[in-house]
Amino acid sequence: MMVKNAESHFREIFESFSKIGLDKGRGITRLAYTREEEEARFALIKLSENLGFKVRKDQAGNLWIRKEGSDSRLPAVLVGSHLDTVPQGGAYDGALGVLLGFECMRQLSEEGFSHRHPIELVAFAGEESSRFNIATIGSKILTGKLDAEALKTAKDKQGITIYQALKELGYDPDDLPRLDVSKYKAFLELHIEQNDVLEKENLQIGIVEKIAAPIRARLELRGVEAHSGACPMGERHDALAAAAEVILAVEKAGNKEKDHQTVTTVGQCIVRPGAMNVVPGYTELLIDIRGVEKESILRAYEEIKESSSAIAEKRDIRLTFDLLSSESPAKLDFEILNVIETICIEKKIPYKRMNSGAGHDCMNLAPLIPTGLIFVPSKGGISHNKDEFTEYRDIYAGAEVLKEAIKVLSV
Ligand SMILES: [Zn+2]
Repeated sequence: MMVKNAESHFREIFESFSKIGLDKGRGITRLAYTREEEEARFALIKLSENLGFKVRKDQAGNLWIRKEGSDSRLPAVLVGSHLDTVPQGGAYDGALGVLLGFECMRQLSEEGFSHRHPIELVAFAGEESSRFNIATIGSKILTGKLDAEALKTAKDKQGITIYQALKELGYDPDDLPRLDVSKYKAFLELHIEQNDVLEKENLQIGIVEKIAAPIRARLELRGVEAHSGACPMGERHDALAAAAEVILAVEKAGNKEKDHQTVTTVGQCIVRPGAMNVVPGYTELLIDIRGVEKESILRAYEEIKESSSAIAEKRDIRLTFDLLSSESPAKLDFEILNVIETICIEKKIPYKRMNSGAGHDCMNLAPLIPTGLIFVPSKGGISHNKDEFTEYRDIYAGAEVLKEAIKVLSV
């Protein structure tokens, strides 16, 4: 447990950040690469400078705060998460990890904790996909998954590209940063669970082993528009009826892989022309397949592809199947997991090892730097919503584990 004055100190900081982008009654809107996200970075810079930490921003909008160790040549222990939110989001997703990372550094500094390895905090920019349809932008740029060209292509609803948004905030997207992995010993992200497993099982900490990754596909079915009264049943090429069969096939493919925790979803269906008296001539489906085992995800994907062609052929409907993106699940570092687990056991904090269905910045770093992800409970599993909530006692348990892990890794 954190000491009393540290608790109230953290609470004050957390509550002040919860006001940045707050629209009373409607939650926090601090979208990627907006003034509001920049304002949150600025607030953290001020706090950090007051404590004498070194502050640096890179040209992708990521913010870095460093506490030197006794040997500055040694690789640093990195902690952090993100400061942006979804529209009308909550106060905990992302910000909690950044602010607890900061709080740990503040406490270690106050306690005069001596460490050889530098300790560094990062607030990744643009983690949420709500604005540009790309998630974890800051950490993807750092790990070479997004370049300036890609930033010129991705647009928000107003037609503003990430490239332009960066320029408007004073960053130089032609001088994008790359993470020098040799300079980092480990990365730790603390995040809310965004599900209710920990709450239901009365646990305070989740130690994440794997992070699920999605494959996304767009499927178009082109049949023949016809009069719903005049066209007899035997002569129809109904694109929506075909889509209905495909949707069930997608569900079936997921059910077959459920032992591997793979999930399949059709989250959107566009029907044209969309009139009560017209046999639909066109449908578009957006399919999301996620899991923690790549082989299982690929099996589900292949099955969906095969069954949809069979359905289209049977109904004499034209099918286009586009693979939109394919990411690989991330595995977190075995040794770091053990460090976190040992801390939970020693401190008698109830925990479990688990997987994450949602993506996080740390999945981009995990293949490059030994990485750990620590979950704290989310009340009712609610997230991406103004009602997102985590009890302070769970937050303080998270702080304790995070601080101890930083200490173990940085001595
Ligand atoms: Zn998040």
